[in-house]
Amino acid sequence: MSTGTEQSKAWFDRAKAAIPGGVNSPVRAFNSVGGTPRFMVRGEGPHLWDADGNRYVDLVSSWGPMILGHAHPAVVEAAREAATSGLSFGTPTIGEVELAEEIIGRVEPVERVRLVNSGTEATMSAIRLARGFTGRAKIVKFAGCYHGHVDALLAQAGSGVATLGLPTSPGVTGAQAADTIVLPYNDLDAVRQSFVDNPDTIAAVITEAAAGNMGAVAPDEGFNAGLLEIAHEHGALLVMDEVMTGFRVSRAGWFGLEGVAGDLYTFGKVMSGGLPAAAFGGRADIMAKLAPGGPVYQAGTLSGNPVAVATGLATLRAADQAVYAALDANAKRLGNLFRLALSEAGVANSVQYAGNLVSVFFGEPAVRDYAGAQASETWRFPPFFHALLDGGVYAPPSAYEAWFVNAAMDDEAFSVIEAALPAAAQAAAGAVR
Ligand code: PLP
Repeated sequence: MSTGTEQSKAWFDRAKAAIPGGVNSPVRAFNSVGGTPRFMVRGEGPHLWDADGNRYVDLVSSWGPMILGHAHPAVVEAAREAATSGLSFGTPTIGEVELAEEIIGRVEPVERVRLVNSGTEATMSAIRLARGFTGRAKIVKFAGCYHGHVDALLAQAGSGVATLGLPTSPGVTGAQAADTIVLPYNDLDAVRQSFVDNPDTIAAVITEAAAGNMGAVAPDEGFNAGLLEIAHEHGALLVMDEVMTGFRVSRAGWFGLEGVAGDLYTFGKVMSGGLPAAAFGGRADIMAKLAPGGPVYQAGTLSGNPVAVATGLATLRAADQAVYAALDANAKRLGNLFRLALSEAGVANSVQYAGNLVSVFFGEPAVRDYAGAQASETWRFPPFFHALLDGGVYAPPSAYEAWFVNAAMDDEAFSVIEAALPAAAQAAAGAVR
């Protein structure tokens, strides 16, 4: 239960004088839900504590990475041990080889992998490589999918871009935008047509392996396989963005659930253990085009940072079948609680899953694409969100985000959620457009 927000308020005022909007990533600012963003000071297991001493059950999990819960002892120990031996060398290290091997061992189509520092860097590099490999310029992406803040990929993006209602961003040049073709998600006919309309010019189709940045929207059966087939028929590559799904929805990510092999993959979040690390990888013949072996340039001062690599490895090594079973069970349990509470309050809802990503859309129809997500009753979300927050549940502060469970959630955490939900459902029921 909330014991006040004075400290968070004071820190937010101070933050706004030093940092644009007071935050280092836009959705954190609570713009679409209103109120004061909470300044967190500690995390342990399924919980976060803010600067005012309030405890929350965390359903954001740092936007995905913390599948084991916060401050997992094995991960903290790995960070401590690595840091004690030096924070960064700018040389090859043993840990980065082990992390690359762990990724390759889990995701069969990935034959080579390069480490970077963020999901954005991973998709930016994958796109450059796809262009370098094919000698083509255009990229197909889907509305509502978010691939980080890469210039060419911001058009009709999900996540914070959707939360703020932006079609794209000033600062993206016309030339960059012109090379991006944006199509509706789950629409293979549109993809086919686009290849007909743009012969021999499309380098790659990039898709979230399962969409999580307009809420959880799984690909229709056959959608990803269809993308692969169409792309290859026309000499283009398929880039599977598994930054969100990778090592979360199964030990091999969405590939482990579906088995459709992309040409290139992007990863982040879970494989970092919570520190800045990400990766892109894929077919050996494509990856061979990267410098220093090939001509496509890509580099990074802190890439493969020893501490980030150690926390990523410790997280993946601890993520056994029991962890994945717990994530799946917790997502189902959460989704069922949503459905029950909202239905009891008379609020039409569609609880959706993409593996163990879960989200709730207000309104009747199941959501298959960005237009559907935008047509849902998003105005019910802010009061729902704030009632949960008052009840000690930290949900994503946006109607367009997936909710991220972690394996540390226990019966006590679920009892907090269960206790908070009736008031939240009532708040959603009473919301005015
Ligand atoms: N790709 C996907 C699917 C994502 O969900 C995200 C971030 O949420 C990114 C890329 C960008 O990752 P980062 O925020 O680490 O730059």
